[in-house]
Amino acid sequence: MTPIQIPFDEVKARVLVVDDSRDVHDLLRARLKHDDIELMSAESIAEGLDKALAESPELMLIDMSLPNEGDGLTLMRLLQTDSRTRNIPVIVLSARADMSCKVAAFDLGAVDYVTKPFELIELRVRLRVTLRMNEMMRLLAQRAQLDGLTGLWNRTYFDTRWREEFARSHRQGHSLALSFIDIDYFKSVNDNYGHPVGDMVLQSVARVLQRDPRASDIACRYGGEEFVLIMPDTNAVDAAIVSERLRQTIAELRWARVPDLRITVSIGVAGAKGFTVATAESWVETADNNLYAAKKAGRNRIIVSDLSSSGLRNSA
Ligand code: GH3
Ligand code: MG
Ligand code: MG
Repeated sequence: MTPIQIPFDEVKARVLVVDDSRDVHDLLRARLKHDDIELMSAESIAEGLDKALAESPELMLIDMSLPNEGDGLTLMRLLQTDSRTRNIPVIVLSARADMSCKVAAFDLGAVDYVTKPFELIELRVRLRVTLRMNEMMRLLAQRAQLDGLTGLWNRTYFDTRWREEFARSHRQGHSLALSFIDIDYFKSVNDNYGHPVGDMVLQSVARVLQRDPRASDIACRYGGEEFVLIMPDTNAVDAAIVSERLRQTIAELRWARVPDLRITVSIGVAGAKGFTVATAESWVETADNNLYAAKKAGRNRIIVSDLSSSGLRNSA
């Protein structure tokens, strides 16, 4: 569940070299063996495409002149057509130094262009720069999906991830559950104790959501003082147990700075065991409606819907 990933420099960067010359592969392997790089080899467009898909390398080194069905530009064009390979940075290795070839390669998204015969020391530096840039891009992209105050995934991430988890559970016939969690009378926390204490409370609730459920559960900050928990492989009954435990843990939170402060949450849950006719959107709507109903019924409680096709029912 923790969105932080292993920093890049603790693992070897995987680089896929696509070149029809065995000598180039052997040379690179021999000369880069002490670098933090794992080299993979492909000798044709088809093999390069297959390995790019199967191995998701951090970087590709592509030769311009490849045998058979086209050239390096053809491979780059094919990589561009698939969302899984589109963002792999490409460095072109080529014996052609003419401007039109360089321009075509950069137009197709190449990040660098190295002419053969190349100096290994230069290639190594260019590899490193590209890998470092790519890692920074990855961290920035990840940061854009994180909530700055709590460190949980943000709403943008939730929207995408929920659709993915919904599609997966549909495809595999697995259980899935979703909880909407909203702090009760949070406005009065800000009003009575000030905004910084409100922020501290949000961080505490986020920590509970990140720590208490299973590692596979996905906690997100949905908006202001509203959170959402995606629980893969969890049916409505188990999601109710998890949510009730969260409700109790949050009610027991205490803060040394404000010892008399108590908070509670209302939770709307929707889960299904296997097959359901619910859509990704109607599922969210059901959980949200249950949250609203929990508020209306007096707050500090959970309301659960079982969306399994065999058991459409509500229970407080
Ligand atoms: P209810 O029990 O019906 O949920 O009432 P509520 O007061 O919790 O809900 P309401 O929507 O009226 O107020 C939410 C408040 O949350 C208002 C807003 O100022 C506050 N809020 C939203 N985001 C933040 C934040 O990042 N930090 C702090 N301190 N307050 C926030
Ligand atoms: Mg609230
Ligand atoms: Mg709210």
